[in-house]
Amino acid sequence: MSKGSEKHKQRNEAIIYFGKDLVRRSGSHCELCDAHGTKLTIHEVPPVPKEPDFDHCIFVCEACSEQINTPKKIDTNHWRCLNTSAWSQIPAVQVMSVLMLNHLSSHDWAVELKEQLYLAPEIQEWLESI
Ligand SMILES: [Zn+2]
Repeated sequence: MSKGSEKHKQRNEAIIYFGKDLVRRSGSHCELCDAHGTKLTIHEVPPVPKEPDFDHCIFVCEACSEQINTPKKIDTNHWRCLNTSAWSQIPAVQVMSVLMLNHLSSHDWAVELKEQLYLAPEIQEWLESI
């Protein structure tokens, strides 16, 4: 096995290891849209750190994951969930919510929501580093 793929494998293992804590944190709900009883996957919020970092991981359902990875597929109504998740106490969830709001900036509700949000300095910094 090459060094590169060995590293990749180690990274995946580390991230899978976060799964247990993510189940606990999220109560097995999608941390963006609150979907329950569906397959949840781990999404690493950018900028993706060199070493896997639990604080960069969020638990998302397939619908959210697909649209995060393919912004062209965004279904605006689905992202009304940001009205809740954008206020999350979990920094990675809040950062991801703001990133999605940026994709939705052609919609008044998204712009208004972003204006209402209070973002702590460390969240601002995180967003600026992306
Ligand atoms: Zn979701």
